[in-house]
Amino acid sequence: MTTIRGTVVIAEERCKGCELCVPACPPDVLRMSERRNEIGARVPELLAGCTGCGACLLACPDFCFEVYRYEAPQEHMPGGDA
Ligand code: SF4
Ligand code: SF4
Repeated sequence: MTTIRGTVVIAEERCKGCELCVPACPPDVLRMSERRNEIGARVPELLAGCTGCGACLLACPDFCFEVYRYEAPQEHMPGGDA
């Protein structure tokens, strides 16, 4: 079971696929997806385990991230919908 303390909204249309956000994420829950935006850049996706720390927001040169913190941590069951 993974504890989730936050989440992010990614403005995929602004992403240029630089991948700087992936190593910037302390719990390593960002990875590049197979999805591409209108300019053909691969965009990142969020895995379970975000802490809402905001490191991705600071790392992204194109301000693609909005970061939210949950008031109470959520539990993610592998295979669940969360
Ligand atoms: S807020 Fe922190 S934990 Fe969540 S995706 Fe961004 S860098 Fe990773
Ligand atoms: S750092 Fe920003 S622009 Fe670069 S891949 Fe991540 S979301 Fe896209």
